[in-house]
Amino acid sequence: MEKAIVIGTGPAGLTAAIYLARARLAPLVIEGLLPGGQLTTTTEVENFPGFEKGITGPDLMEVMKAQAARFGARFTRGEVTAVDFEKAPLRLTLDESQPLETATVLIATGASARYLGLPSEQQLIGRGVSSCATCDGAFFRDVPVAVVGGGDSALEEALFLTRFASRVYVIHRRDQLRASKIMSERALAHERIEMVWDSLVVEVKDVEQGQVTGLVLENVKTRQRRELPVTGLFLGIGHVPNTKPFRGQLEMDERGYLITRQTRTRVPGVFAAGDVQDAVYRQAVTAAGSGCMAALEAERYLESLGQ
Ligand code: NAP
Repeated sequence: MEKAIVIGTGPAGLTAAIYLARARLAPLVIEGLLPGGQLTTTTEVENFPGFEKGITGPDLMEVMKAQAARFGARFTRGEVTAVDFEKAPLRLTLDESQPLETATVLIATGASARYLGLPSEQQLIGRGVSSCATCDGAFFRDVPVAVVGGGDSALEEALFLTRFASRVYVIHRRDQLRASKIMSERALAHERIEMVWDSLVVEVKDVEQGQVTGLVLENVKTRQRRELPVTGLFLGIGHVPNTKPFRGQLEMDERGYLITRQTRTRVPGVFAAGDVQDAVYRQAVTAAGSGCMAALEAERYLESLGQ
């Protein structure tokens, strides 16, 4: 039986793994479908403390993984398809194989940005298409960009992007915003934000060597299409926490985020860290911080069991 299994290898999972490994618990870390997590879909990370000149997302995750491995974390690939947290030992099924048994589980499966699902959009992720203005906004200085969505996330991204971009188009599929009043007022009043109502992005253009050069928009009322020249497309249509295997086993809010108290779930021995339980901050550094908290909580729990 394992002492600790960490699910997920974003900043939360890997930080938890570093702490657990240094506590001589030799955690087993499960790398899922996107090893390294959301950061591997961004380019330069300039806001993670300790890297004066920035570091790429993939490099940061590689260094964190090496750091965890140096202290004895073990890694395996696979997708957790089911869990049984009804009684000890806790059980996890990985890709339909024999269940793994463990005394503690740290869930750090993160959240995935919701994308439009256009093939052209998928091809240009990291080359003009981004789901994180905080991470990538500074690369769009003095150029026009677009944000899709009409909720708080989209407007927050749009307002942040006005610090850099020459113009920020907010493309929304209706003629009314879903966002809070205060955020809507701020965005509508901003001189560099232009609303594009009743419109869908139907194609992302990349005529110049695989870099976004514009969008094809379709008006949902008139069905008329037009091109909008922009060099960046930011998705602000929400995030989806990766909690499917835990449905019915752990407490979640109405959007599917795990409900935790200082990283503890309601099930003894099951902890959660990072974006899977945080819809508010969603930063690499806050995820790493909560990964550390979850590991310390797991260590204390194991100590209380005398392990
Ligand atoms: P959201 O409120 O669900 O808004 C998603 C937006 O994306 C909606 O305007 C929706 O359009 C649009 N959308 C969804 N799927 C789309 C698609 N396939 N194509 C085009 N547009 C699409 O999500 P959110 O903005 O991420 O906010 C989630 C929660 O976090 C909210 O409760 C929000 O208040 C909160 N939040 C708060 C803050 C803050 O206070 N600072 C910041 C961010 C988020 P429709 O309107 O037509 O449905």
